Amino acid sequence: MTLRSTVKKITGQDIYACQACNDCDIGTLTDMDIPLSSLIQLILLNDEEALQCRTLWSDSALQASRGACKRGLDLSAVMLALREESKRKTGEYNTPGQKLRIPPSKKA
Ligand code: SF4
Repeated sequence: MTLRSTVKKITGQDIYACQACNDCDIGTLTDMDIPLSSLIQLILLNDEEALQCRTLWSDSALQASRGACKRGLDLSAVMLALREESKRKTGEYNTPGQKLRIPPSKKA
């Protein structure tokens, strides 16, 4: 399964809706290595670098992502889904088939 389809399956958010407008850019804070819009572009490219960048784990980026997309994408749900996918891939969860934990309010 591609990264984009994984995000869609978990969150209901289709990253293809991104219009690369960069309105979600909040700058690159000290605990970020790439802008939020670049993280979204990595998902579009199915580039698993998205799972390893510091921005994904930035709490300030997560906070800023809430309501940041003027096109209606729920970027905080996307970030939380990517965090869970990254943990799953790195083996933090070692129970096969374990359900990913996304807060109910973040589900589409
Ligand atoms: S604001 Fe939304 S549509 Fe624009 S670049 Fe960011 S994610 Fe894409």
